[in-house]
Amino acid sequence: MIVMKFGGTSVADAQAIKRVMSIVGGRLDKAPVIVVSALSKVTDSLYKICDFAENGDLIEAEMLVENIRDRHLKLIDELIEDEKYSSEARGHTDSLCDNLKKLVDVICDLGELSERSRARIISTGEYLSSGIICCALNASGISTNFLDARKLIITDENYLKGEPDLHRISLKVPEIIGRAYKALDGTPVSAVITQGFVSATENGVPTVLGRGGSDYSASLIGMAMNAEEIEIWTDVDGVHTADPRRVEETKSLEAISFREAADMAHSGAKVLHPSTMEPAVGKNIPIKVLNSMNPSAKGTVIKQESDIRSGVKSVSCKENVRMLNIFSSRVYNSSGFLSRVFSIFGKHHFSFDLITVSEGSVSVTIGEDDDIQEMMEELSGFATVFIETGKSQIAIVGKDMAAEKDVLGRIFGVLEGHRIYLMSMGAAGGSLSLVVDKNELNCIIRDLHKVLFADESGD
Ligand code: ASP
Ligand code: MG
Repeated sequence: MIVMKFGGTSVADAQAIKRVMSIVGGRLDKAPVIVVSALSKVTDSLYKICDFAENGDLIEAEMLVENIRDRHLKLIDELIEDEKYSSEARGHTDSLCDNLKKLVDVICDLGELSERSRARIISTGEYLSSGIICCALNASGISTNFLDARKLIITDENYLKGEPDLHRISLKVPEIIGRAYKALDGTPVSAVITQGFVSATENGVPTVLGRGGSDYSASLIGMAMNAEEIEIWTDVDGVHTADPRRVEETKSLEAISFREAADMAHSGAKVLHPSTMEPAVGKNIPIKVLNSMNPSAKGTVIKQESDIRSGVKSVSCKENVRMLNIFSSRVYNSSGFLSRVFSIFGKHHFSFDLITVSEGSVSVTIGEDDDIQEMMEELSGFATVFIETGKSQIAIVGKDMAAEKDVLGRIFGVLEGHRIYLMSMGAAGGSLSLVVDKNELNCIIRDLHKVLFADESGD
């Protein structure tokens, strides 16, 4: 079997969903499990609804609920001609939107919103899209069963970024999906569909996997089912050598390793959720990144490192980062200083991206929004701490990069004359990361891309 995940832009409107249906129609011999995101921008609206409701802004919150309802009802009109299935889809949509409205009313009344209620609300987009697409597939003759992801993807009680319980998921998913492949009368169906992003605790309390989590849902299901392949359908021709919106003449990569894909995602590449690779690696299940707007393009396959050529694969970036610099204010021996710093990091569950360490000082990069006030106060007890803002982080990712002739020479040639705040080379020459001034980011990243990829004809 295979897992096919379609992101928000791949299911944005009736035209996009028709393309998805024809792609699925071509894969029925592989017993696909279809995982869908919410229609594009719907999850953003649901987050806004939560904020309005929490602030007691009933009119604004209800207006957004009605906008969501209208968009989905219009979609059904354009997508499903068959009266039986279109009325089923309308009923499904109305009941989800009515429930959402009721929840919003209660929250406005109470003036408070718990994380678990927020998780329930922001899951609505995936229930809407999956229900409608299920009806559309059935109407088009592709018999499809609807599955609730809250029965499949079990997490801890971190409601807004649940940690999946791999053991339970591996036990439950094959049994439930196996059963779903038969209709009630016992005849086999052609496909099953479920929601990305959506999960629940063991007791069925709603959780979600965090923003962009549908990719992760797909690979968790792929792992549990021992899938032949996990297909991530998006709106670009696979993973590129850089973000095409930022850099000209990027190329699609034919193949990268699980580790390279994870390094790229962690360092700002937007194509895949960073955790997507984890479940697939252990079972060595290839992940394909494909374009639903251009289904015949080859896309990118992500597979084990030993099957991948060495060399530089991509330049990615995070535009807004801060640097936290910590200097020992007394003369400790360096291990005493470091162990104090790290024990405070651990106590505050602080996670950082990059780090450099020297005798008596530590610098790390953090996101713009991370709240570190309390931790900084504690560090100030034995160190001088300051934050630098307005920085960006660049990562050059590949395999065995330093072994390639003159790669480092080309990189350092570009960096000449620019201020570099931090530099670190990952283990085994798999990635080189830098921190630069935000206003120099675009210029540096374009020049790096030019010197690293200009003479390649693509993969
Ligand atoms: N709909 C969710 C989001 O926008 C999950 C996803 O699309 O992967 O974050
Ligand atoms: Mg996505």
